[in-house]
Amino acid sequence: MALKLFNTLTRSVQEFTPLDPQKKKVGMYCCGPTVYDFAHIGNWRTFVFADLVRRTLEFSGYDVTHVMNITDVEDKIIKRVREQKTTLREFTGKFEAAFLDDLKALGCREPHQKPRATEHIAEIIALIEKLVARGVAYKAADGSVYFSIEKYRGCGCCYGQLLKLNLDEMRAGERVASDEYEKESVADFALWKARVPDDGEVFWPSPFGEGRPGWHIECSAMSIKALGETFDLHLGGEDLKFPHHEDEIAQSEGATGKPFVKYWLHGAHLLVEGKKMSKSLGNFFTLRDLLAKGFTGREVRYLLLTAHYRETFNFTLDGLAGAKSALSRIQECLSKLLEFWDNEIGEINVPIDSRDEIALKKFTEALQDDLNISQVWGVVFEWIRELNRSLAQEILSKNSAASALATWKRMDGVLGLSLSLKSALRMNEVTGVAPSGILAEVRGDEEAPPEIRSLLMQRIEARKAKDFKRSDAIRDELKAKGWVIEDTPKGIKLKKI
Ligand SMILES: [Zn+2]
Repeated sequence: MALKLFNTLTRSVQEFTPLDPQKKKVGMYCCGPTVYDFAHIGNWRTFVFADLVRRTLEFSGYDVTHVMNITDVEDKIIKRVREQKTTLREFTGKFEAAFLDDLKALGCREPHQKPRATEHIAEIIALIEKLVARGVAYKAADGSVYFSIEKYRGCGCCYGQLLKLNLDEMRAGERVASDEYEKESVADFALWKARVPDDGEVFWPSPFGEGRPGWHIECSAMSIKALGETFDLHLGGEDLKFPHHEDEIAQSEGATGKPFVKYWLHGAHLLVEGKKMSKSLGNFFTLRDLLAKGFTGREVRYLLLTAHYRETFNFTLDGLAGAKSALSRIQECLSKLLEFWDNEIGEINVPIDSRDEIALKKFTEALQDDLNISQVWGVVFEWIRELNRSLAQEILSKNSAASALATWKRMDGVLGLSLSLKSALRMNEVTGVAPSGILAEVRGDEEAPPEIRSLLMQRIEARKAKDFKRSDAIRDELKAKGWVIEDTPKGIKLKKI
């Protein structure tokens, strides 16, 4: 079964096929934070969702380039810089650092590239120049440069790809200068905003005069630079569909004449305690607010990951308390498995248990089904229940414990909970199964290099085939390389001399 995802562009669940002819590399862009304040829990839902998409792609064997921009110049930022009488960099720097700390606390893999808008002014200007040259952008009397929706549509391009817009009600020549606006006011939007006194020192020179970029053009310029004119995946919260993402498409396709993105993925809204989050209702939480209440980033991550990304999710403090107990159920089981396995020497020639194989298969299928996360958790907890039953009945073998731990490691590569498993599970980053030779290596408390692991596996195969001559030869070769194998009644132990 292949990975299937809901593409906002086609309004349907589609099989994911990367643009790369080798079907290996995947370019993924997620609109990053506007660094004017601490990100709130609604923002975090989107970033944890993006992390799940990335991890799922990596779990599926793709080589992902994950790009997330930092919007460090924008209407709200400039307003606060002015109010606080500080500099742009000083102001945005502290919120950018806080954002990256929070991202880590939530167990999100760091994006490979985190371009800042203010460091891409040249690319932004070049893109605007292209749009002007193609006749789809113009300089208005206020000195700013706008994108012309009418001219763009006149070229046969479609404005309104992500959602249906009533363009007939649009009045020709209507313009909007602010970065955020309502669907009802579909209008020409600003690409370059002419300097005004309120901007203070926040401006750059350009062929269109001093000013600064609009928010939408930042993402087009940075995503094209990082991932090319056409790339695989663009993610964001559903509130960004319009106008931000629609404008990104118009700017990018208007400049390049090529399709911008193959798959658009949008995460749904989040309610807090059943209501839209707002400071006046007292249900507005940043991650820091929740940490101060004694919850952990892991618990917040878990709770955010319990709902399907396309469903509105009601985030509650009771839910967080539930997350705590769900996580301790998993942790308890893993600790028992680890303790159980750790007391003895790892045994050899243990294939992964069929129970684990089945669980992993179901886990994968649920994930591939448009990230059906509730089914994923269903599989995980059913598997934990079975393991607990076997542990309670004392019918679990040491090897089965090791197999289960390795299976968890594989699952957690996607879930990102990073529950403490000591160093024991460093073993199977690559294969995700528990080949017993690698268990032996772990028992030796040494990280054997790949060459040694490979020799060990070859020796296991030779012994299975009763080719003792070959087995002995490999043993000697290992010894020459500084590793000794001890055959014990309970299995094989690999030790560095
Ligand atoms: Zn964006």
